[in-house]
Amino acid sequence: MSAKIISGKDLSAKLIKEILVPRVEKLKKQGITPKLIVLLVGTHTASASYVRQKELSAKKAGIISETWRYEKNVTETKLLKEIEKINKDKTIHGVIVQLPLPAHISIQKVLRTIHPSKDVDGFTPENIGKLFLGEPTIECCTPKGIIRMLEESGETLEGKKVTVIGRSNIVGKPVAALALNKSATVKICHSRTKNLNKEISDSEILIVAVGRPGFIHGDQIPKGCVVIDVGIHRKKEGGLCGDVHFESAKKKASKISPVPGGVGPMTVYSLIENTIEAAENTST
Ligand code: NAP
Repeated sequence: MSAKIISGKDLSAKLIKEILVPRVEKLKKQGITPKLIVLLVGTHTASASYVRQKELSAKKAGIISETWRYEKNVTETKLLKEIEKINKDKTIHGVIVQLPLPAHISIQKVLRTIHPSKDVDGFTPENIGKLFLGEPTIECCTPKGIIRMLEESGETLEGKKVTVIGRSNIVGKPVAALALNKSATVKICHSRTKNLNKEISDSEILIVAVGRPGFIHGDQIPKGCVVIDVGIHRKKEGGLCGDVHFESAKKKASKISPVPGGVGPMTVYSLIENTIEAAENTST
């Protein structure tokens, strides 16, 4: 048995063309061009590469994407003032701050300064709170992208046993909440989970967001399970890999998302979609 590959790369390209481009054209007819600002502090190599991917997808969708760059010693006060300026600018619909930030800048303060209506990463307490309440909101990009790729690959979540490994605020917790909102039966595992193998042994969908290369091996995966690999790691020999040992996992899974070309492009897709949604909200 070899798993069907859930390609986030192909899916995001298709969805941009079929769904986002027409939505942007409709907005442009009303005189609105969705505009995203990415705040990038310092010269983190991985961050710069993500920013390039975001700019490329924004261009394909027809929205404006600008990257505002700052030296790594920029003060917190300066960054907060920039966000306040963006909050007031009616031509800007979405803003994200590329993480990680230098240690002297408080991520919490930065996130709390972004106006929730422009928080297209979905990280502000208001947007995260609404997501957990099951209310309409701007949903965090990676979790939203994961649910989308599951559904587009033909998976219904209702009644399914979903196990999430990882409980971070940006992936594990919100993806568990979104799956629960879709009426899945959800289990969250983390570093203090006793007997992880037993916990995942009855999973129908397994979402792995641990941050350790090749952490989950095929022999831990129940036969026929759908596996979503969130991890991204740069290999010493070059190229990328995920949290799942792909070669062994694809022999047990019924469907699997690869790294690269899986969750990453769907995260970027969700960011562009959130920016368009934020622009649509200003037109109503
Ligand atoms: P994180 O904040 O480091 O969280 C990792 C989670 O894994 C924690 O909850 C931790 O548990 C858990 N964990 C660590 N070791 C474990 C173990 N031995 N057994 C069970 N659980 C364990 O990471 P993150 O931000 O969620 O990101 C996870 C991965 O996804 C990273 O590789 C990251 O680069 C990648 N990522 C990719 C995208 C994308 O767009 N593709 C987006 C975001 C993140 P504790 O809470 O108990 O410490």
